Amino acid sequence: PHDETWKTLHTHIDEWVAVSKTHTLEGHVASYIPELANASGDILGICLMDSEGQTILSGDSNFRFTLQSISKVFSLILALMDNGEDVVFSKVGMEPTGDDFNSMLKLELIEPGIPFNPLINAGAIAISSLIAGQSPDEQIERILHFFRDIANNPSLSVNQNVFKSESDTAHRNRSLAYFLKDNGVLDQEVDDVLRVYFSHCSIEVDCTDLARMALVLAHNGVDPIRKQRLIPRRFVQIAKTFMFTCGMYNASGEFALNVGLPAKSGVSGSILTMVPGQYGIGIVGPALNRKGNSTAGVHLLGILSQEFDWSMF
Ligand code: GLU
Repeated sequence: PHDETWKTLHTHIDEWVAVSKTHTLEGHVASYIPELANASGDILGICLMDSEGQTILSGDSNFRFTLQSISKVFSLILALMDNGEDVVFSKVGMEPTGDDFNSMLKLELIEPGIPFNPLINAGAIAISSLIAGQSPDEQIERILHFFRDIANNPSLSVNQNVFKSESDTAHRNRSLAYFLKDNGVLDQEVDDVLRVYFSHCSIEVDCTDLARMALVLAHNGVDPIRKQRLIPRRFVQIAKTFMFTCGMYNASGEFALNVGLPAKSGVSGSILTMVPGQYGIGIVGPALNRKGNSTAGVHLLGILSQEFDWSMF
């Protein structure tokens, strides 16, 4: 038996997706990773999943894409599970930056030279080096295993074309990593850390995978479908707090005002968000606005949040 919200969603989602889709025209597909530029700009898809695993799919929900920055949320969680809070927060800070995700500007400002937070690239690269394992391959295997468990999808894997494309062109990420190495933040070699980082960014999913991953966060670390705890509650709390304050790049404040939900976006045009205690939501719309978020995806979430009063405040 479903509530009013679910019924209204069923009735109106296609029309809301159609309206939002017109906003893809305002955006541009990311091209700094050459392989991502192949995605078509007029795509918009969504999956909403309730705590019994029922889904509402609309638009181009079968489109497959890579997690990109969304992966940072789950690598952070795995690093917390591997090392605990104290170690993790000796390598990254807790503050939003207001800078671009790959900014070099503020790297040095938090004492003692650690990145501002785990969701900017410098912070996420530092987090990648904290994933347990004897070798980069083992670290990547552990990440895949963890992500597959959260998504309840054993077939999740790294898209090698995107991985290679990103790895070949990552001059800025490489400089960030060398800077971190010089500051003593990375124990591992730069190339090894970056291989782990690019691999988790290049894990391929669809909207249903995102919604399922979001559902586990919406239920504070318990998969409500398998009725199994996958993540300690405190680590989900940390992840969701960062999503709220830093998850939508330097449009996180605007998104907090207009949508009011914890969310994380990636340059593939993906957004993972949730209605706490209720639904997991996965969206993809590769055309990005100037801040790097899906134009149509943000528009669609604005409609949903207003319609159902989903803001947490
Ligand atoms: N792998 C991408 C990078 O490091 C992630 C960026 C993003 O999605 O914001 O450039």
